[in-house]
Order: sequence, then structure tokens, then C-alpha cells
Amino acid sequence: MPATTAHPATTASVGIIGAGITGLTAAFQLRRAGIATTVYEAAARPGGVICSFREGPWLAEGGPNTILDTSPVIGQLIGELGLVGRRLDSRPEATARYVVRDGRPVPLPSSGPKFFVSPLFSWKAKSRLLAEPFIPRAESEESVADFVRRRLGQEFLDYAIDPLVTGIYAGDPAALSIQHAFPRVYAQEDQYGSLIRGQIFGARERKRRGEVSKANAKKFSFDQGLQVLPDALAQALGQDLHLNCRIDGIQPTQSGWCLNGRHGDQPLTAEHRVVLFCGTAHTLARLQIDVPGAPSLQPLGSVNYPPVSSVVLGFRRGDVDHPCEGFGMLIPHREGFGILGTIFSSSLFTGRAPEDHLTLTVYVGGVRNADKAALPDTELIDLVRRDLNRLLGVRGAPVYSHITRWPAAIPQYDVGYGNHKALLDQLESKAPGLFIAGHYRDGVALSDSLGTGTRTAERIVGYLNPKIPTKPQAAP
Ligand SMILES: Cc1cc2nc3c(=O)[nH]c(=O)nc-3n(C[C@H](O)[C@H](O)[C@H](O)COP(=O)(O)OP(=O)(O)OC[C@H]3O[C@@H](n4cnc5c(N)ncnc54)[C@H](O)[C@@H]3O)c2cc1C
Repeated sequence: MPATTAHPATTASVGIIGAGITGLTAAFQLRRAGIATTVYEAAARPGGVICSFREGPWLAEGGPNTILDTSPVIGQLIGELGLVGRRLDSRPEATARYVVRDGRPVPLPSSGPKFFVSPLFSWKAKSRLLAEPFIPRAESEESVADFVRRRLGQEFLDYAIDPLVTGIYAGDPAALSIQHAFPRVYAQEDQYGSLIRGQIFGARERKRRGEVSKANAKKFSFDQGLQVLPDALAQALGQDLHLNCRIDGIQPTQSGWCLNGRHGDQPLTAEHRVVLFCGTAHTLARLQIDVPGAPSLQPLGSVNYPPVSSVVLGFRRGDVDHPCEGFGMLIPHREGFGILGTIFSSSLFTGRAPEDHLTLTVYVGGVRNADKAALPDTELIDLVRRDLNRLLGVRGAPVYSHITRWPAAIPQYDVGYGNHKALLDQLESKAPGLFIAGHYRDGVALSDSLGTGTRTAERIVGYLNPKIPTKPQAAP
């Protein structure tokens, strides 16, 4: 790419900032709609936090591990990319999830009858659930912890929701907003006055829309890990994906927008009719956007993205007492361990470890253990081995290891997050032709990114061709 580029803004071209899964999905859908699209990515590779490492028989995921197949949009995308044959569903046997209680992994009950006989919850906690349908709605925005304590009780918070929050956000239920971090759960109380009633009626609604709840959705990856998906999207973009291109500013022009930034150490300028920003909340806060009347985006710089280190270790099968069959193990904060949880990666997907070995993916850090994520490699591995020894009877030294560090991993949708979302709405209303999408707006799961990338592309098509009706926006 030349040091200075100019794309004529008079054609209906779209410039996308960020080649994470959100930006790449939007680009693919726009090009399918016949709209010229260019993607600018600051890093040297596409995929954002998705990064898979194949080293001989080992496969390590440095970022996310699984996609939840919640919507028909996801299967369509995979089909159109020609990836159906490379999709790898999780092994049907690998359904067990463990939650640590009193220092040992206990299976999370997978059905109503199993819940009633499970040692994970006391009889007092189980009978407390009977009161749930009769508890009134909250009067103001609540944290996840306050919401769950009020509706389901303290024990359910400690041993069901706290580990779930750790697994999704590496977060703190006392800080996260129920409304913004778990909008579907919040909507159950809002619409039906009860989570139990909401479960029943919400399932009917989803069935009508052809969607599947996150709890029931199939989990999948690809033969060479999740990186296969961004790589295929990047390949479809060809020359229109520009790596090592960081965008620092966006200015309106008479016919669209001018992007300014750096391509390596060279200045970069490009013009587009429409711009879609799919970076992170922190980079958006730093972006210079010269639009009269637009709100200051500086508050987005305060969105909490805690550090997380992903430690993938391979062991000889004979050195591990626990069968490690299933999805993995989550650890409630009050149990006092240094690690957040473990995915049984080689049980979940085939082709991740050599015969007679297993791969465990362990997360360290998050909001409540941020300092541990920054430990030097040897101390980090020692901490992980100590906890795995106590919890799963892992005895021998690892025969394979791969560490990936995320200094700013996952945005926390804390109480008051609505103010950040309102800023993004205001910016879009003051700057027609500038669109914002990504994990800090519409949900942190990959299924959310695939959905929001697709829906935002539809919004852009509608903006460029106002006579084409856009599909109604689905709930996030
Ligand atoms: C450790 C970890 C584990 C996870 N596990 C799971 C999981 O198992 N399942 C799941 O569903 N989700 C998981 N997630 C969440 C999910 O992976 C992310 O929310 C999702 O991938 C975010 O995609 P994105 O495109 O919105 O953002 P990102 O992946 O962050 O991509 C944004 C891109 O924009 C680029 N960029 C930013 N600013 C600029 C700029 N100014 N100019 C040019 N480029 C710019 C960045 O370099 C980056 O490539 C996990 C996340 C992490 C960190």
C-alpha cells in the first residue's frame, strides 16, 4: 500500500477500522451486498483477540476457545465462507461442567431433577428458589450480585453466578450491571416479573425466532482452532484488508469521511462515504473525531478492561488423577484459588493434544486477581500447577506450555454502563455515516460480535440505499 492513499468518497465505499471478528464480519456482509469495503487494522494479523497456535500435535487458543451457535446467521456465514467441512463441534460426551465447592470440583447439575440431588447447593438454597416468582422487580439499576442475592439468594450467587461471571467476563458480580452485562436475564424480570416465568416464556420466543439460548447452544471451533474463521474472512477481503494501519483521526468531508493514521511509520489518509469503527473502547476514546456537536468520548477511556493471562499446559494422561472429561471447571471467588478456571481443551475438541496426553487452558487475572495476570512466566506456571494439583490431582511437570497475555482483555459492563452506550448513540446521531460496533457495545461473546457485525452491515446498507428496507434490529 502506498504511504498516502485516497479512495474516492463519491463511490459508496465503506472504511472499517479494526479487523477483529466484528469488523471482519461486517466487511464480509457489506461486500456480499455489493459495497466496496476496505478494512484498516493496527496489528500485523487479523482476528483481534482470536489467536490459535498449532505446534505439532498441540493446539493452543490464546484468546477465545468456543463459539456458541445461537443464531442461524452464524451457520450461514460459515457456509458462505466454505468452512462447513472445517467446523469442529465440541465432542458430544464433553458436556460436564464442574464448579469448585469446598476445594473440590463438583458437577454442575444439568437438569431440574439433578439440581435437586446435587451437593453443589444446600437444601436451604434449593428451597429458596420456590420464592423467586413472588419477588418484586427492582426499582433502580442493580449490580449482578444485588440482583441475584435478591432473587435467588447468597448461595446461588456464590456457587452458580459468581463462577459464571468469572467464566464470561473475568469480572466481579458486585461491579457488573445486571441490565448491561446480562440483558436477557434482566429482561426476564422486566418482562415477566420472574426468572422462572421468563425461562418458560423466553424459550417460546426464541423458538419462534429460530434462535437458541446461550445455555443450550452448540459449542464449536475449527480443525485448526478459531483463527480459521478470521483467516477465511481476511482471505475473502484480499487486498482490501490493510494490516499495520492504525487510524488516529476521523474528519467529515463534503461527501463522507477522511481517515488519518499511520501505515507502519508512514502517514496514511483515506476517504470513504461511510466509516465503521470496530476497535476497542479505549482506542475509540483516543480517536480524534472532528464532528460539530459530537460528545466527548473520553469517558470511554475509563471502561475497565482487566488483564487476563491464558496459560495452556499439556500433561501426560497418567500424571493427572481427574478424568478432565467435559467442558471444564469454574472456581467461585470465595474458594480462594489463584486461577479463575480451566477448560478441558483436549476433551472438548479433538486434535488438541497427542495420544495419552491432555491439554488444559487456564485463565489467571481478571478484575479480582489482576496482579496475578502479570506474574513472570515461571511464577505464573507455578501458580497454575499448584492449583491444578490441589483441584485435579495434576502431578507431573507440563510437557507443553503456551502463555498469552492480555493487558486489557474484556470490557466490564459495570453499573452505569448505560452512560457509555448513550455516548455512542449520541455520536452516531450527530455524525450520520459514522457507525460504531464491537464488544464494548453489543455483548462480549463471539456470537454477539458475529450478530452485531451482520446487523451493522445491514444498517449501513440501509443508510447507503434508503429505499431498501432494513431488517428490524434483533435484541442484543
Ligand atoms: C482471553 C479471552 C477469552 C475469551 N473467550 C471467549 C470464548 O471462549 N467465547 C466467546 O464467545 N468469547 C470469548 N471472548 C470474547 C471475544 O473473543 C471478544 O469479545 C471478541 O472476539 C471481540 O471481537 P471484536 O472484533 O469486537 O474486538 P477485538 O477482537 O478486540 O478486535 C478489535 C480490533 O481492532 C483493532 N483496532 C483497535 N483500534 C484500532 C485503530 N485505531 N486502528 C486500526 N485498528 C484498530 C485492534 O488491533 C483489534 O484487532 C474472550 C476474550 C478474551 C480476551
